[in-house]
Amino acid sequence: MYDYLIVGAGLFGAVFAYEATQRGKTCLVIDKRDHIGGNLYTEKIEDINVHKYGAHIFHTNNKKVWDYINQFGEFNRYTNAPIANFNGEIYNLPFNMNTFNKLWGVSTPNEARKVIEEQRKRAGVITPKNLEEQAISLVGTDIYKKLIKGYTEKQWGRPAKELPAAIIRRIPVRFTYDNNYFNDKYQGIPIGGYTAIIEKMLMNSEKRLSVDFFQNRYELSKLAHKIVFTGMIDQYYEFNYGVLEYRSLKFETKVLHEINNYQGNAVVNYTDNVTPYTRIIEHKHFEFGTQEKTIITKEYPLDWESGKEPYYPINDEKNNNLYIKYEELAKQEKNVIFGGRLGLYKYFDMHQVIVSALESVKKEFS
Ligand SMILES: Cc1cc2nc3c(=O)[nH]c(=O)nc-3n(C[C@H](O)[C@H](O)[C@H](O)COP(=O)(O)OP(=O)(O)OC[C@H]3O[C@@H](n4cnc5c(N)ncnc54)[C@H](O)[C@@H]3O)c2cc1C
Repeated sequence: MYDYLIVGAGLFGAVFAYEATQRGKTCLVIDKRDHIGGNLYTEKIEDINVHKYGAHIFHTNNKKVWDYINQFGEFNRYTNAPIANFNGEIYNLPFNMNTFNKLWGVSTPNEARKVIEEQRKRAGVITPKNLEEQAISLVGTDIYKKLIKGYTEKQWGRPAKELPAAIIRRIPVRFTYDNNYFNDKYQGIPIGGYTAIIEKMLMNSEKRLSVDFFQNRYELSKLAHKIVFTGMIDQYYEFNYGVLEYRSLKFETKVLHEINNYQGNAVVNYTDNVTPYTRIIEHKHFEFGTQEKTIITKEYPLDWESGKEPYYPINDEKNNNLYIKYEELAKQEKNVIFGGRLGLYKYFDMHQVIVSALESVKKEFS
């Protein structure tokens, strides 16, 4: 008999398991995948740490979270500075003076502000009714057409005119020559990949991989006093009230034997709407790799249906209302703790998962 059965060896499950074992509790951690780490799993291929489920850059403003993650591994000085490729034209992201200079030839913040203001006025949007109008009212037509429209439509699988304005409340626009994507104080990539970090977190737990909770839920539940569940909350309740929706992704990874530098940057976003993928990741650049080969991954957004990996919760009104019903059931549980992006039906960055897991730990052990 274990103290905790932890369903999901992702970051939430791993932080909980680490904290519980530090307090002398016993944990059995299961995952339906054949590896630990959840979506931040990295696999070493040709001596390059490959982010198997998309680019993962750790960033936070919270010193406690930064110190917390650093106890499990050393981070490098990687700074996320993605670029956009629009039909072969290259632009810096996030939208900043480098982007504006390339778009309009302007060189001062005042000139850039003027262009954006003129375009916003000319568009004449007063109350944005959809994402397209919202974006134009925030940043004008050029940035919208070249850098937002195609990417967003691919990401959501719908025309921007049919997407709610509320998806983008703000678009970060920076009037400095600063290509650093994040405003956070701390960022980096763990030297040697993320999997080693999760391994350390799970070092005192028993792990069983390729085990799906739902294949054997009654037997597995009997193995522990309590369950920490980081799978899909609607599935836990047998989809009683209906199915929560997600966006999915397909990753196509290639080892390029003849090339040692494919795109000169870790992340390149394809912002046109003809290229079927949204980005190409070149993994070695996350760790300033000097290997003779390189590995790239194309990321294709996909509609989600049962059986596909659920990556991004669709937190629209319909799904959020449905989630609230499941959350009500979850609140009544005495021996089940729900956590993580699937258990709480919420998009979390890694630093937010750590905060959330530590809050659960505090609640459980105080
Ligand atoms: C494409 C992409 C890019 C991202 N980039 C960043 C980034 O740059 N920076 C950042 O901070 N965050 C990023 N994130 C978010 C990051 O992945 C999450 O914050 C983090 O992985 C969530 O951890 P988790 O434990 O909640 O979920 P997961 O990592 O999903 O772990 C849940 C685990 O539970 C397992 N599981 C589910 N159901 C069952 C079951 N029935 N039985 C057994 N096991 C089960 C799953 O297999 C999975 O391993 C990104 C996410 C995606 C999708």
